[in-house]
Amino acid sequence: MSIISNINEVKKKLDGCQLIAVSKTKPKEDILAAYEGGQRAFGENKVQEMADKADALPKDIQWHMIGHLQRNKVKYIVPFVHLIHSVDSVRLLKEINKQGEKIERVVPVLLQMHIAEEDTKFGLDENELHELLTSEEFKNMNFIEVQGLMGMATFTEDKEKIRREFKFLKKIFDKVNSQFNDEKLNLKELSMGMSGDYPIAIEEGSTMVRVGSAIFGERNSH
Ligand SMILES: *Cc1c(COP(=O)(O)O)cnc(C)c1O
Repeated sequence: MSIISNINEVKKKLDGCQLIAVSKTKPKEDILAAYEGGQRAFGENKVQEMADKADALPKDIQWHMIGHLQRNKVKYIVPFVHLIHSVDSVRLLKEINKQGEKIERVVPVLLQMHIAEEDTKFGLDENELHELLTSEEFKNMNFIEVQGLMGMATFTEDKEKIRREFKFLKKIFDKVNSQFNDEKLNLKELSMGMSGDYPIAIEEGSTMVRVGSAIFGERNSH
């Protein structure tokens, strides 16, 4: 199967949801192959790798940072990143705001929620989310725009468990949208679903799926 035919297979199931093609660890040639087929949104999880690829590849590519982000590396991606999916602390959000202010760019972000019942993965819990959204610090951040939430389900064959976790994230998303009325809070994106579980995520209300190996093949590392 070619990269383009893999993308077309995924696209058949999208139902209006956006596809982020996760190209981490894959060579620029693979990204170009997808680009030739019309794909513009790509996901990466390492700052240096994303910056190198962005430098070398067409400028109309939209780069999505989906991996854990260290504060000292924020400055390297703030000028060009299309959306940061993986904001999991107030401290990180503050740093993104600070770097955005320096170049006068409002940086679009998603807040990453911890939804996996088993795997210990990064992310905020509901209380932390509530604290963040009601904090004075948050109110004073004028260079970030929170566009939605992101989450990763447990890596398991148990489809009901995965569905439960996605339902839980959708519930939090709906709750935030009904409780808060802040101009910085315009939650429209729900980033959930990967190669193994994106059809379930779409059924449960995902607006963005992050699909890597089902498009580009298995990865050797990270
Ligand atoms: C690697 C990664 C993906 C894509 O994983 P696949 O199983 O290859 O589709 C999606 N989201 C995040 C946060 C990732 O790190």
